[in-house]
Amino acid sequence: MSDKNQTPSKKNQDKTVLDYFQNKKKKAKVTSKNVSLSDVCTEGFDEHSDNTVLKFIILNIKKVHQKSVKTFSSGHVSKWNVSTSLAYDRIITAADIGFPTGSCFCIIYQSQRESDNKLQKFKLESCGVGDVGEMIEPSYTGRNLGNSDVPILQHKWPLKPIRDSFTLLTTIPNMIYDEENLPNSGTRFFLMKGVLIHVQNVSMEIPICTGTMCDRQEIKSTSDQSCACLTVSNRCPVVLSCNLFVKDQDGRNILVVKEFRSWVFTKMICGSLLSDNSGKDDFNDGDNLDQLRERTSIILDYVNSNGGWTVIGWYRVGMQQDAADKMQDFGKGQVETVAAETVMPHVSRLVSTFVEKDELVQFRLQASAVPKVSVGSILENEC
Ligand SMILES: [Zn+2]
Repeated sequence: MSDKNQTPSKKNQDKTVLDYFQNKKKKAKVTSKNVSLSDVCTEGFDEHSDNTVLKFIILNIKKVHQKSVKTFSSGHVSKWNVSTSLAYDRIITAADIGFPTGSCFCIIYQSQRESDNKLQKFKLESCGVGDVGEMIEPSYTGRNLGNSDVPILQHKWPLKPIRDSFTLLTTIPNMIYDEENLPNSGTRFFLMKGVLIHVQNVSMEIPICTGTMCDRQEIKSTSDQSCACLTVSNRCPVVLSCNLFVKDQDGRNILVVKEFRSWVFTKMICGSLLSDNSGKDDFNDGDNLDQLRERTSIILDYVNSNGGWTVIGWYRVGMQQDAADKMQDFGKGQVETVAAETVMPHVSRLVSTFVEKDELVQFRLQASAVPKVSVGSILENEC
């Protein structure tokens, strides 16, 4: 039947149906609802979780081969009776930044395949630890990590990185790390804007991997050489290492991190000097090290006196499992009591609060200071 032969009422009817679906489509796009971690963990949330979004920042990603993690159901009479072991490939620790309270959560991917799927967008955008993202339609598993206060969330769709997190971070209130007033137990996230930074013992080191998802933060240890990256390369195998002193406006230490490493921070200090062929000797030999330290100090001072730094990190205190439980784990020889670790303050991201990256170019090391440099494009397309 051609259009001509349709009655006007049929045409109108078609149009109405079309309008209905078009409007529905339009409406569906704008009904994404930002939810908090506390919303997600509230009973009954799942029923209405369509189109909900949880904004988070990744604080840590841990990769482990063929190990399992203890989880406990929450809200039951005896949590010790309902512990189970869960095999995992990667554990992400993250914090809610849409409605920040300092609370953290984690996500467990049970296989490499699941990690590949759920982290595919982060991988594509070269994002990872310290970056911000969205979890679409989050869901609480009803379980916590170890005997901790860290809920385990799950999600169906790949995590979505937010590339321009600079603005978002400025809207979040300060959450200070205060060593004098730590909770007795718990895993907490901190975010401090406008703090001062002092570094000591700067050098260029070889990272355990040359990827970006782990931000090259891991330090070589004999027990576990794995990092969180889904892809690695042989390009530019360097990372800046230093002892980091985070200070308040009066110069008092808020926290100290020994052997702080970060690829994001390395790029901020060295910029386009980093090429595919860079090696640590290019920066550590003789005058080059003096140059590197001098420039680092100039950049730090400039940012210190122009709005300071934003330091984002996390810590975990006082969640030792009891001795019996430890013995049991030891006997089994396969259960890793992840939540039993006390984690000293760990910095996941260090960036200038107001100073734009481009403004720092003038202070960076000049190419002449470093031999064998062929300026690469490795910095493009990274978060
Ligand atoms: Zn890595």
